[in-house]
Amino acid sequence: MNYESLAKTSVLTQPVYEPGKPIEYVARELGLDPAGIIKLASNENPFGPSPLAVAAAKAALEHGELYPDGGCYELRRKLAARHGLHADQFVVGNGSNEIIELLGHAFVGAGDEVVMGAPAFVVYKLVTLLFGAKAVEVPLRDWHHDLPAIAAAITPRTKLVYVCTPNNPTGTANTEVELLAFVRALPDHVIAVIDEAYAEYVENPPDLRPLIREGRKVVCLRTFSKIYGLASLRIGYGYGSPALAALLNRVRQPFNVNAIAQAAALAALDDTAFATRCAAENRRGLRRIEAGCRERGWNFVPSVANFMLIEVGDGGRVFEALQRRGIIVRPVKSYGLPRWVRVTVGTEEQNERLLRELAAVV
Ligand SMILES: *Cc1c(COP(=O)(O)O)cnc(C)c1O
Repeated sequence: MNYESLAKTSVLTQPVYEPGKPIEYVARELGLDPAGIIKLASNENPFGPSPLAVAAAKAALEHGELYPDGGCYELRRKLAARHGLHADQFVVGNGSNEIIELLGHAFVGAGDEVVMGAPAFVVYKLVTLLFGAKAVEVPLRDWHHDLPAIAAAITPRTKLVYVCTPNNPTGTANTEVELLAFVRALPDHVIAVIDEAYAEYVENPPDLRPLIREGRKVVCLRTFSKIYGLASLRIGYGYGSPALAALLNRVRQPFNVNAIAQAAALAALDDTAFATRCAAENRRGLRRIEAGCRERGWNFVPSVANFMLIEVGDGGRVFEALQRRGIIVRPVKSYGLPRWVRVTVGTEEQNERLLRELAAVV
């Protein structure tokens, strides 16, 4: 008997997630100097991690022999103060991707349906399939989540409905008014999952806490991977009702979030100057890339996040050509967008280089 015949069907049929290629990997593959490569493929922070977070992470390493605080007590308290909620309304994960998986553990099984936009963050679908449920994908309209169509796709079997805002890979957002009305109209057996991974980049992000106070079934996801620049440490969180947080906390591993990440996240929350500067620089970068696209007549999807879709003709070819020139972007064919690439907003210098090299290869 081979291993495959022993594995669960959901494992054998699980699609493979294709991450942005690491700089070292591309350097090796193409014989390039890693120092000259820029990665604009995974919506990472071009300004690095918050310096306060780095100092805190280094200090935490000195106690590497100790298990972390399994309940992330201090971090949940600080998050609670930040959001004006209670600590028992939070669950912290090994990246917010882990919260998506915890939602699967807690709520999703064979015969269930999970509704999501398409294209949206692919992990919703991967986790849905892994738990043997059906992923119901609702096409975007004008690049935005089509909330009425999503509501119409809900059936008695629906367990979760994902809305990513701003959405990855489009960078588009739904309004607060829309989101509040959408969640308020959901049937009682459906949990809304609002992925706010890029909320800190948005000037006035929707405030969905009224929904939590009203007792609606909703959980919001946030991450330290993006504006706080801590993607490598893997830490994110969800917030919602205490009952929901308790269920998600029950299905996670006892020490799912390491101590280095917890220390870094605590410090990053204090570094408001860093986050404010990154958001401002990002807005300037978005304007610059938009202007560059207009000058050259390339279509783009106006974005409020830290990345943008640009129509380049053959996305796969442009991705390869850029990579040979030391710029890693993300082809989005797997999202059904073969003519586009997704580029992360970089530093001023990186954005100029991106536009120059794009012009050379498109
Ligand atoms: C980057 C991203 C995340 C963050 O995932 P982590 O596991 O916290 O690194 C979550 N959702 C979306 C839509 C993202 O693009």
